[in-house]
Amino acid sequence: MTVQPAESLSGLDLREEIDRLRKERKVVILAHYYQKPEIQDLADFVGDSLELSRKAAETDAAVIAFCGVKFMADTAKILSPEKIVVLPDLEAGCSLEDSCPPQKFRAFREAHPDHIALTYINCSTEVKALSDVIVTSSSAETILEQIPEEQKIIFGPDRHLGAYLNRKFGRDMLLWPGVCIVHEAFSETEMLKLKAQHPDAPIAAHPECPAHIIDHADYVGSTSGILQFAKTMEGDTLIVATEPHIIHQMEKAVPHKTFIGAPGADGNCACNICPYMALNTLEKLYLALRDLEPRIEIEEDLRLAAKKSLDRMLEMAAGTIGKGDLGRA
Ligand code: SF4
Repeated sequence: MTVQPAESLSGLDLREEIDRLRKERKVVILAHYYQKPEIQDLADFVGDSLELSRKAAETDAAVIAFCGVKFMADTAKILSPEKIVVLPDLEAGCSLEDSCPPQKFRAFREAHPDHIALTYINCSTEVKALSDVIVTSSSAETILEQIPEEQKIIFGPDRHLGAYLNRKFGRDMLLWPGVCIVHEAFSETEMLKLKAQHPDAPIAAHPECPAHIIDHADYVGSTSGILQFAKTMEGDTLIVATEPHIIHQMEKAVPHKTFIGAPGADGNCACNICPYMALNTLEKLYLALRDLEPRIEIEEDLRLAAKKSLDRMLEMAAGTIGKGDLGRA
């Protein structure tokens, strides 16, 4: 269906209309921390990939409006197939998903038959179906600790997250060469200049950052972990090395503290704003609720194959599968 241009919506109070439609159509609006503040503020729940996956699996709403990127909306549909799942802009992709075409991933797996595939949730449904266990940045450490040390592992598609886990846990996982274009854009030189201006401010970094950024961090963790660190740290200023829209939740939670986004290459570019997440707007969300389009549809055999690795993540993240309980996809 054709999305109407924003100007044809002039005159509407979009917040009021979204509110009306969400009640009429029994919609739950889920938003990732990297969404624009105006979308975060009207969402029923704001969270990271693991939290949003759990919400999608649990909700009794008839419709899930997913304000995030496509692999996240796909995950919601995989876990809640009976729900209508809409994504305001179907073009909201992810550089990590793009880096890992399923046919190449399949060939990589076949070339390493003695390895299991531990795969970051930022991938296509097809790649999830080819994987043994999915992880998010908040569940990766808990899950990796449950896998026997002698088990050989392929980790994809984020090579920086994989390298961070290898360093932290002394593992030797084979890494797929994908990167997040947003976290890749942080500049070490500019960050050190910023640190010199705020010598007492700790640095919190997402593990999708390259090692030369992580090496300077006082805290490394998922978006929800960084948010928690912001709330509980002792100082009053924090340098934040992840997508800067997370700062909105920090400022709401602890308004007396100061949060400074880590800089990109020239010190003040917007290169660490995720261009895919930014495609979602209030206008597109309103249209998605009005028309219940664009919808996520997934062929049933593929969905069931992908669900296995996601279910395993949800179980292992809750600590309900013990060591040595991993099989092949
Ligand atoms: S921030 Fe990076 S990993 Fe997240 S959706 Fe954007 S490109 Fe993908």
